[in-house]
Amino acid sequence: MNASIQEELNKCARCGKCRAQCPVFLEVGTEMSVTRGRVALLEAYLDGAIPYSDKVREAMMTCLRCLRCQETCPAGVRVDMLINFAREKMATEFGVPLLGRIIFRALLPRRSLFDALVRAGSILQNLLPRSGQDARLRHLPLMFHGKRRIPSLSKRSALKILPEVLPAKNEKKVVAFFVGCLTNYSYAHVAQAIVELLNRNGVTVITPKRQLCCGQPVLSYGDMKALRRLAEHNVALFNSVECDAIVTGCASCGRMIRKEYVPLLGEAAAEFSAKVYDVGEFIAKFLDVEFEHRRETVTYHDPCHLNWGQGITEEPRDLLRAAGEYREMPDAKRCCGGGGSFSLSHYDLSAQITAHKVESIRNTPADVVTTSCPGCMLQIQDRLVAEGVNRRVEHLAEFLLKSQKSDP
Ligand code: SF4
Ligand code: SF4
Repeated sequence: MNASIQEELNKCARCGKCRAQCPVFLEVGTEMSVTRGRVALLEAYLDGAIPYSDKVREAMMTCLRCLRCQETCPAGVRVDMLINFAREKMATEFGVPLLGRIIFRALLPRRSLFDALVRAGSILQNLLPRSGQDARLRHLPLMFHGKRRIPSLSKRSALKILPEVLPAKNEKKVVAFFVGCLTNYSYAHVAQAIVELLNRNGVTVITPKRQLCCGQPVLSYGDMKALRRLAEHNVALFNSVECDAIVTGCASCGRMIRKEYVPLLGEAAAEFSAKVYDVGEFIAKFLDVEFEHRRETVTYHDPCHLNWGQGITEEPRDLLRAAGEYREMPDAKRCCGGGGSFSLSHYDLSAQITAHKVESIRNTPADVVTTSCPGCMLQIQDRLVAEGVNRRVEHLAEFLLKSQKSDP
């Protein structure tokens, strides 16, 4: 074990303050579902006091990586480092599950293969019924006890639709757009909105076509070799593009490429990571966007990886206040329960956590729920429909684009 991990373990004062707001602990209530318990478990496991078992694995995997406990921990324990370390160790010693190995090592590094599989999926999805409340969602009757809805796969991915270079008329900035897998394949209209919004405000947008997955799901399973391959490719590709910034509309991709690439690749990724911005953050910081203030009421859900992960909370709200009638929802910073692959591996628990978000939305007088992460959109859309709450869910950029003055 390296010294920094031992240092993080030693920092834990066993105060239990991480329990107060952990979305998993609040549902499950067991010590092994929260950081204090995981620290004790990891120490015992590393000391050889307990053997590896399904219970140890499950304890390490039952974490959304929402980072809320890291923010509240008075001792400053780096929970992200501990979880990464534990999952990497399990992957190294006991292997990555077969399906994960196929996806992380064979599929994600090969864009054309990924495209072909998604194309096949977009044809097969026609067999799935559309959700009555939101026609963009499909119902999965044979999985997750028939409860899950997923967004339709786009007929053409964002990377196929978007031009490689979209020059701006009065160029103020040049950005490279990091699309992200979920946006690319299921929310291509969000990618288009992001590019149009930036471009109409003087930004030349370059969309490198050979970009790959940021690696977030790979990190979640501790497959560091596969992750390194994706990260090295993305860094080399984006470093070859001359631009002022790298912009993304996905909170999880943003945190991943901003915060995890440097610990993984060292200085080689420093220049790349320093250029990464969330789209809302970039607009608020560098562009003077004029909005047509619309009467439509809108609220905002904070994605954990943008809020706790990158410290961006006010920028999206300021933009929304200018663009529409903003209403803050209760507990907007509470995790939506998605957690990427967590919502697949722990669907029922994830849905239980989302129920609190749905309640907040139900109690907020807003027509539109916005957020800055396609993963949160997916999770919230699914549960809103499941609980019969009729609200439109949009990416921040979609809402802002509709409020954009026609001739900025
Ligand atoms: S809040 Fe921090 S110091 Fe306290 S038990 Fe949790 S991890 Fe340990
Ligand atoms: S990262 Fe989130 S889910 Fe994981 S232990 Fe911390 S608060 Fe709980």
